[in-house]
Amino acid sequence: MTHEFDVISAAKNWRFKDVRKVSSDIAGEVFASDVLDLDELRELVSKPVWKSLQATIEKGAPLDPSIADTIALAMKKWALERGATHYTHWFQPLTGYTAEKHDSFFVPVSSGKAIASFSGKELIQAEPDASSFPSGGLRATFEARGYTAWDPTSPAFIMRHSNGATLCIPSAFASWTGEALDLKTPLLRSMEALNKSAKRALRHFGVEVNKVFSTVGPEQEYFLIDEEFYYRRPDLVMTGRTLFGAKPPRGQELEDHYFGSIPDRVLSFMTDVENQLYALGIPVKTRHNEVAPSQYEIAPHFEPSNLAADHQQLIMQVLKNTARRYGLVALLHEKPFAGVNGSGKHCNWSMGTDTGLNLLEPGETPHENLQFLFFCTAVIKAVDEHQDLLRLSVASASNDHRLGANEAPPAIISIFLGDQLTEILEGLGNGQAGSSRRAGVLELGVPVLPPLPKHAVDRNRTSPFAFTGNKFEFRAVGASQSISFPITVINTIVADAIDQMTDALEARLKKKGTLEQAVLEVIRETFQKHKRIVFNGDNYSAAWHKEAAKRGLLNLRTAVDAIERFTDEKNLKLFSRLGVLSEREIRARQEIMYDIYFKQVNIEGETTEWIAQTQILPGALSYLAELSEIEVESRAAKRTIEQLVEATDALSDALEKLKAQNAELGGDEVHEKAHHMRDNVLPAMAEVRKAADALERLLADKYWPLPSYREMLFVK
Ligand code: ADP
Ligand code: MG
Repeated sequence: MTHEFDVISAAKNWRFKDVRKVSSDIAGEVFASDVLDLDELRELVSKPVWKSLQATIEKGAPLDPSIADTIALAMKKWALERGATHYTHWFQPLTGYTAEKHDSFFVPVSSGKAIASFSGKELIQAEPDASSFPSGGLRATFEARGYTAWDPTSPAFIMRHSNGATLCIPSAFASWTGEALDLKTPLLRSMEALNKSAKRALRHFGVEVNKVFSTVGPEQEYFLIDEEFYYRRPDLVMTGRTLFGAKPPRGQELEDHYFGSIPDRVLSFMTDVENQLYALGIPVKTRHNEVAPSQYEIAPHFEPSNLAADHQQLIMQVLKNTARRYGLVALLHEKPFAGVNGSGKHCNWSMGTDTGLNLLEPGETPHENLQFLFFCTAVIKAVDEHQDLLRLSVASASNDHRLGANEAPPAIISIFLGDQLTEILEGLGNGQAGSSRRAGVLELGVPVLPPLPKHAVDRNRTSPFAFTGNKFEFRAVGASQSISFPITVINTIVADAIDQMTDALEARLKKKGTLEQAVLEVIRETFQKHKRIVFNGDNYSAAWHKEAAKRGLLNLRTAVDAIERFTDEKNLKLFSRLGVLSEREIRARQEIMYDIYFKQVNIEGETTEWIAQTQILPGALSYLAELSEIEVESRAAKRTIEQLVEATDALSDALEKLKAQNAELGGDEVHEKAHHMRDNVLPAMAEVRKAADALERLLADKYWPLPSYREMLFVK
């Protein structure tokens, strides 16, 4: 089979007949039609049962087991009507993916028939065989069980496949000793911590609310390539990224892809995806081409962060499943192709209240602005004090290829505030709240701030943590990762900063003075202490790296550097103080992060060796053999042979070095293995790739065994 065959069949095989027709009646018939939302559930159960459940959902009261049977019955009826045959506790283990084990509703009865059954016990708790999920040693091997528990704050939903449907029950996952084994539980705990501290602070501003929660709108970037190519690339299949591939003559230089018109096949795919997501109650809002060829983005409207995290997992799943119907594969890896942009998942984050306030929205009145500046400064303090945790929350072998590659924010964490906001906060520090004309701040006895113009911030795309008018955007998050942990970290560190600032405020209020004066003093003092984290310039520049070092900001270049910090005393204390993660849970998670890092790179190292040895080298040697048979005097043949011999030997030499590194583990401990992967295997892989990429430019096309970048990225 020649190489050209791939290209032609890829371009031709897909036909519009494959398009799944979807309803355009989104608002009426489609939206949330596969979600058992609270209004619907209320209709299905009696009033006392509903009251009891509502107390659990809204006030976090423990679920009354005596109502569980009634709810299970209602859920079963609802699911059967929608064609479900199975149910599953749907949860987020520490792999970062979602997990599900399906059980049938149907049980045999004596008459040789089967009935549908689903009990309260089965709803509330399930025992998946947990021994195969990572636990970082939290489950002793003799007690392999863990259990999943229904999270009633997140609605149940139906997942459809081509031949049926499953009722999914969003759940938390824990060990029998009570430690969280998932990503969801700490996220819920961090939301509670933020709720407490923000409510406490708000009371001083005279704002009484029932609930403060973080809101998140994640923007998902991804690539789509034809599946014909995908299955001919063992590296993509095994590792999610290309381990080989010379830069094509054309990449993203023409800048013609971003926001360009979307190809029909891709648009049909997107419409299908969106329709399924609408049915799941996920408010997808935007879709567009991204910077790199064949790169796209999908973003929902923001939601409370636990819901946003569940929905984000579903978005990834639906993207992957649906692509196959269109003869495509969705690549969610952070860096599937070297030399063109990688994929991130910008997490837009803010704090909202049940009364509809956005705490990071500049206000209309001076009083509201004071409140806004207070919460905004809390974020600045949090990010400065916990740069390590933010870096850690996005640390993975795959994201390392992206962070700092001059296309994504660097591994150095800093904040973009925009000139105006920076000037206002600086003005407070100079004791000049009244004189900064550009910021338009007035002074009338006590410093009073006039309305801040909304959305006046300029666009800075290079900052890892940017204020964008009424929210912060954390841009270092990787495309393939769950947003749960990054959001857990932001919630936790901001909750802590708010608490400390509120302590300072209360101490001042005990002395004399007005609330305004006290708040202004706390803001001023906090900002002055933490302003080194603010940088409004170009984060990609070498000058910033120097400047950041001068300011003493952390530069944790690799995931391994960041993972190390997890167990620092400061972090153990922080997470336990706020009740988000215990020391045991942190130690377990650190171990799992090292382990995943080690395994990912180990698989890449092995795959690199395998492809180079069994595909690329044989192709090169065959070409050499063919050229050697040329009997006429030919300068072209002679030159090509010389170049080929040199390049092939270079590949062979690099390959032998990689084999030696692959044969080692670097030690028995996971962190030793992770270090070995980073320090020895990755550099050896890079050498093999360099030699192979040079060969790709030299070999006759028919001898190159892999679909090329040119084909994968440009044949649509
Ligand atoms: P951009 O110019 O970056 O696309 P948008 O205003 O379109 O900015 O928002 C991008 C994302 O930010 C969307 O998912 C949006 O829902 C989300 N977003 C907007 N407001 C908030 C908020 N208060 N909290 C969290 N996310 C928000
Ligand atoms: Mg954005």
